[in-house]
Order: sequence, then structure tokens, then C-alpha cells
Amino acid sequence: MNHSKRNTFAGMTRISVCLIAGLFALLTLTSGTALSETKKKTGGKTSKPVKTIAVTFDDLPVVRVYESKERRAITRSILDALHQRKIISAGFVIGDNIDSDWELLAAWLEDGHVLGNHTNSHQDLHTTEPELFIRDIITGARTIESFLAGFGQKKRYFRYPFLHYGETNKVRSRIASMLKENHIIIADVSIDTEDYLYNLTMESIRFSTDSTTYDKLRQEYLEHIMEALSKAEFLSDKIAHRPIKQIMLLHVNRLNAMFLGDLLDAIAGQGYKFISFEEAIKDPIYRKKDNYFGPNGISKLERIARSDPKFRPDDF
Ligand SMILES: [Zn+2]
Repeated sequence: MNHSKRNTFAGMTRISVCLIAGLFALLTLTSGTALSETKKKTGGKTSKPVKTIAVTFDDLPVVRVYESKERRAITRSILDALHQRKIISAGFVIGDNIDSDWELLAAWLEDGHVLGNHTNSHQDLHTTEPELFIRDIITGARTIESFLAGFGQKKRYFRYPFLHYGETNKVRSRIASMLKENHIIIADVSIDTEDYLYNLTMESIRFSTDSTTYDKLRQEYLEHIMEALSKAEFLSDKIAHRPIKQIMLLHVNRLNAMFLGDLLDAIAGQGYKFISFEEAIKDPIYRKKDNYFGPNGISKLERIARSDPKFRPDDF
């Protein structure tokens, strides 16, 4: 074989290799497309939408009157649990409770979370005149908004204390239209955890030296939240026929200072992806009208279910 023939042979080999590789790529692509189409047609597992959830906190800076050192430790512990898992949350502030705890609020904002208004004095709309309630919203907003602007937050959010939205259509519409006129977004909730009840137990065992007492509470709390998650997914499926962007309500208390990390890991273990509150609140479910005017402070999903005759009492 002379030099030129060797070159021709090498050239042909290269062309053949390229052709084979091209054909192989084409086959892989075609079979891949066919496979994914089959999966779509058969409802294959790969097309199952990811479950998403945002975690939010009420009663900032800290839920109860703890010593200043404890208030800082509770805040730090909650923020660390979020930071370690790269979770962006939202907190709702009671203006009157800030006192001198501005640095605790700054810590939330420095970690990238957003803050919203939770009234100035945690008034209950079901026992307060609507005009007084509106005044409490405005005072709460004035208390925090220039501070928020200093951190670049311009969006205004409001969460109703006790999740009480008004017991008549007139009252509810009055508050809702005031919020809308002022470009304040209602920070709805799809999962109300009732974590404050577990925090009562935490406060009662806080001086216990027996670690099994804490383990028992942790287990009960986590099991309770897992049940709340499956209930929320059940209602989402019945109402929206899809997994909605869930928004969970927690409080800045000693319970979550101790167990938030375990709780977040257990939620992730259920296949959830954490998203920010600002992303979750864009889900159209939170703009769906509900006609629940009962006395209970309940989630948006439950309000929709309880005001829809197609739901049975066992559903919620
Ligand atoms: Zn509250």
C-alpha cells in the first residue's frame, strides 16, 4: 500500500466512522422520542409533575415574649435551617412586637427572605370593626415598609391574623378591596399546620432533661405535618386536578427553632421541591373565589372545599 492509498483508506475509515456514529445518534434520538411519547401516552412516571412547597412564618420577630438572648437564638436557628437547605421563605411581622428587634428582621432580609405585614397589633377581624382592622393594617404597613425599602423590597404582602378573612361577604369585600387599591397582595396559605399547639407542649417540657420527651414530640409533630401535606395534596387534586404550589404556615417559636431542620428534610423526603413564597403565591388557586364565611381560621384549600357542595365533611 503506497502513501496516497493509505491516506485514501484512512479517509474512507473516517467517513465510515462518522456515518456509523451519525446513524447511531439518529437511532438513539428516534428511539428516545418514541420512548418518551410512549411514556406520555401511557401516563409514564417520568411525566408526573413535581410537588412544590413554600415555607412561611407568622408572628415575627418571634412569636412569644422570650428573653432577648432567646429571641436571637430562635431566629438564628430557624434562619440557619433554611440557609443550609437553600430555602427562601417569607415572614409576616406584627408591628407592635418589634420593640428593639430590628436586627432580627434585618437578618431575615439579609438571608434573601421577604417580609410582609401581619397587622400592627394582631387584631382578629372576627371580633374587630372592619374600619379599626383597616387602621391596624395601615399602621403595620407604615411600621415596616421604609425598613423593607432600605433592603430593596418594594412588594407589599399581608397575612390575616388567625386566618380570619371576615364572617360576611360585606366585611371580606371591604378589606379585600382596600388591600387591592393599595397594591397589597394577600398572603394566602394552603397548609395550616397548627404548629402553635405543638409549641405549647414544647414550652411545657423545655426544662426536661430527658431526651426521649423531645424525641416523642418531634415524632408527633413530624407525623402531624406529613398528614397535613397529604390532606393538602388530596384537596389540590379534587379542586385543581393538579399538585398546586403549596404554601405552609409555621411560626417563629421554640418548637421550630428545634425541629425545623428535621421537618424540612421530612418534607423533602416526600418528594417536594422547595420554592420561594413569591413564586408559590402566583399559583392561580390563590385567586380562586371561596364562599366560606364560617368562624374557623383555615387554609385556602379548606375554605374552597367547605364552600363547595360537591365536597363531603370527611374530605376536610
Ligand atoms: Zn399570627
